[in-house]
Amino acid sequence: MRSRTRFLMAFGLAVAAFAGLSIAPAAASQADLHRGGGLCSALPLAGQNTFGLATVARGGSAARGEPGSMSGDGAFVAAPRGKKLTGVVTIPVHFHVLRAGSSYAQGNVKESTVKRQLDVLNRAFAGGYGGAAMPFRFELVSLDYTTNAEWFEMGYGTPAEREAKTALHRGGAGALNVYSGTAGANLGWATWPWMQKEHPEWDGIVIDFDSMPGGEIEGFNLGHTATHEAGHWVGLYHTFQGGCSNSGDGVADTPREFVPTSGCPAGKDTCTRHEGVDPIHNYMDYSTDPCYPEFSQVQVDRMNGFWELYRS
Ligand SMILES: [Zn+2]
Repeated sequence: MRSRTRFLMAFGLAVAAFAGLSIAPAAASQADLHRGGGLCSALPLAGQNTFGLATVARGGSAARGEPGSMSGDGAFVAAPRGKKLTGVVTIPVHFHVLRAGSSYAQGNVKESTVKRQLDVLNRAFAGGYGGAAMPFRFELVSLDYTTNAEWFEMGYGTPAEREAKTALHRGGAGALNVYSGTAGANLGWATWPWMQKEHPEWDGIVIDFDSMPGGEIEGFNLGHTATHEAGHWVGLYHTFQGGCSNSGDGVADTPREFVPTSGCPAGKDTCTRHEGVDPIHNYMDYSTDPCYPEFSQVQVDRMNGFWELYRS
């Protein structure tokens, strides 16, 4: 079993303020932090904001962290006002398996694993593990396999990422393209809805194939890396966005949080002057998969506006 801890590496804005100490006090050891590349190396694909999860050297232990700065252009994007979505919105999913060969270790995941991943995504967005229900459901409409060692190992912001996405991306702004591979040194990353127009072919999420249900990354193999990335894809920030500042993550019902969570530390509270303990159980923190049962009601509202403006 590979092991990792989810920890942060990227975040914007206010972050600069504590960039020097952007380490979850609750967990990530120094060793974790540097594994897989260390802190936020912001090298955004032009116009592509990301966040991914863990930084890890394969076979080693690491943490959920993300490539690139969460802030990208540095501006906090407030949720647009939008009509409340009624009923269920079905999102077509184009799933692209990138592999280096025919073995599992080479990323050759089974179709049944992809389907289980979609089941987890659907259950999470339906509030099936707890928390609020999102109006979105995901339907697998295409699944393709590409054998290309470079694409399989593509990292954030690399030419390989651009090539793979340009070649494989399908559908419009409302279709979710998922790429499974090693996700470079991360657990995954995503593009923001407001970046879609500029580079529609780069839109989508990238996940470590081993983070899918039944994968081998200890603590991160229930499939919630995809849940977290899909959350970004519809417009959600991390719960620790903005630290203890007023804007925070733009979501009123997720208590402010200074630093990301590593593991699942009950009672963690990094903004003690503000109400509520850290939202460690929210999918948009960096906690481990078993620690993740929920989206919040106001996150649902935030997604609504983004969907209407950018993806509907
Ligand atoms: Zn993230």
